[in-house]
Amino acid sequence: MPKRGPFPVTSCDCAACRAACLNSPGWFMPNQIAPLADHLELSLAELFRQKLAVGVTQMPDGGQVHGVMPHKLRDGKKPGTVWSLSELAEPGRCIFFDRGRCTIYKYRPFECARMMHDRPRAAVTLRHRIVPRWTKESLREFAELVGQKLKAAKSAPR
Ligand code: SF4
Repeated sequence: MPKRGPFPVTSCDCAACRAACLNSPGWFMPNQIAPLADHLELSLAELFRQKLAVGVTQMPDGGQVHGVMPHKLRDGKKPGTVWSLSELAEPGRCIFFDRGRCTIYKYRPFECARMMHDRPRAAVTLRHRIVPRWTKESLREFAELVGQKLKAAKSAPR
């Protein structure tokens, strides 16, 4: 259960966690993608095209920044694509959620592993902790895969 720090790793399958799995998958940290690809025995490109997506977050200054998340299963959307804020606002089951369980539990996104339950402000802070990790360099390969520019946060990771 909880480890040190403001965002302890949690482990539960309560209604709030399941709701996130059914509606709003969490974001990965950049250094989580390669281990997940190895675990699934896929190349990074294959993993992205088959299972992941580029998400977007609106920052307090109104700007939008990108990061990588599990694909959400939704009509008309394929894995390996970029999601808009309005698309993300619609529900969609995480591609890794199967029969009530996370199928990549050990490799689940940083954000999923630190579910903030009924603390919406903390959830926003958590996302803002992740966002700066998605630098231009971290996003470069995904930008090439989707064939468009992706927006990195301005601030450097702490
Ligand atoms: S990666 Fe796992 S924990 Fe995260 S939303 Fe998907 S199924 Fe849920």
